[in-house]
Amino acid sequence: MGINQSEPRLLVLGGSFDPVHAGHLALAHSLCLQLRPQQLRIIPAGQPWQKSALTATSEQRVSMLKLAFETWTLCPVIIDEQEIQRAKQQQVSYTIDTLRALRQESGSQASISFAMGADQLQNLHTWRQWRELFGLAHLCAAARPGFSLEIAAPEVAQEWRCRASSALTIQNTPCGGSFLEPDLAVDVSATQLRAGLHQHNPTMRSLVPHKVLDYIQQHSIY
Ligand code: ATP
Repeated sequence: MGINQSEPRLLVLGGSFDPVHAGHLALAHSLCLQLRPQQLRIIPAGQPWQKSALTATSEQRVSMLKLAFETWTLCPVIIDEQEIQRAKQQQVSYTIDTLRALRQESGSQASISFAMGADQLQNLHTWRQWRELFGLAHLCAAARPGFSLEIAAPEVAQEWRCRASSALTIQNTPCGGSFLEPDLAVDVSATQLRAGLHQHNPTMRSLVPHKVLDYIQQHSIY
């Protein structure tokens, strides 16, 4: 089976991006190489419902994302502010809502893959209507040091295994598959980074793109 050229293929990466870092870039890079999307859609969260307040403003997080992805060559990148806009109207965005909007926009046959780090598998069973996410998109997780499918709730692990699909199937079908990239190993989180940047830790500084680091310093964000 070859790649279905006629239907759009979208790779969606949501998150806080407070700030964007090497882990996000590696996740997007690895899944882009495997799934060959025609568009990488990055969706910064408004106010994430499972996290406390963010440090950078929405505008700063969007600016940092634009700087981080300005030289991306694997496919066109769109920084989609729909969740930020909903938050400004006091609306919480659940992943299910965002994927419904993307499905509406992209049509029933588009291949939509939702990317995440394997840490998200731990809480997936608490996401609103988590099983229905598979009716809207493929779920694609990449390993993250310390996290694997083993940490998922049993019902998530079972669903994940039943739905396991090849990269080619993900590319050629609209939704319903699970995909695990087991080889990613970038040991960084935004939480560590915020603390490390605050302390001018040189290792932490190397995990943020140069232009983003300049921006953080200019605006004294962390
Ligand atoms: P925080 O520490 O504030 O929770 P984070 O970096 O873990 O931040 P987000 O910015 O919300 O989290 O991450 C967006 C997405 O990128 C999530 O799906 C997350 O699992 C994934 N991700 C973040 N860092 C990595 C990493 N080092 N390796 C793989 N995936 C990652």
